[in-house]
Amino acid sequence: MAKDKKTSQKWKLYEVKGGKVVRKNRFCPRCGPGVFMADHKDRWSCGRCGYTEWKK
Ligand SMILES: [Zn+2]
Repeated sequence: MAKDKKTSQKWKLYEVKGGKVVRKNRFCPRCGPGVFMADHKDRWSCGRCGYTEWKK
């Protein structure tokens, strides 16, 4: 059951728009793929290493 819950949470990070899969969260360039960055109003931030990328 725990595995099912993990799968459903993963799907929250993706959204299908116009037939294309849009990744809602970015990966951290420092931590690498698998570590998502938190989506803020004006920036992305990594909760693991603290990396921040400002939105333009
Ligand atoms: Zn990071």
